[in-house]
Amino acid sequence: MSYDHSNIFAQIINGTLPCNKIYEDDQVIAFHDIKKAANLHILILPKGEYISFDDFCANADSATISHFFKTVRQIAKDHGISDTGYRIVANHGADGMQTVPHFHLHLLGKEKLGGFGSAGSESHK
Ligand code: 5GP
Repeated sequence: MSYDHSNIFAQIINGTLPCNKIYEDDQVIAFHDIKKAANLHILILPKGEYISFDDFCANADSATISHFFKTVRQIAKDHGISDTGYRIVANHGADGMQTVPHFHLHLLGKEKLGGFGSAGSESHK
């Protein structure tokens, strides 16, 4: 699978589509999710053309990966949720229900988040 240059997040990164931006540097951009799943729901993306978590970890260099995750931590800190807690989620591929084919993390917080029981785990009981 090759990178789709027309995906929504590519258009946000290149400025074609607007977003509610909360952070940007030369490698990373972060903005509020258009359909929030928690009181705070931020999407954090490397600007490089990585399709998924798997692609990012396999093909980005160590400095890029390190900078990305340290930036995720800093964004959480800047939003005051380091102590109260938060969740980071990466949906990967079809079974992971990834809908936008540009690697991104969901940062969720500012509330007591539910457990993972709602969708899948009931069927495993
Ligand atoms: P995924 O399902 O790929 O893990 O997450 C994609 C996320 O992108 C979803 O939570 C969805 O609400 C969000 N999203 C889709 N289109 C847009 C958009 O145009 N702007 C913003 N800010 N978020 C979007």
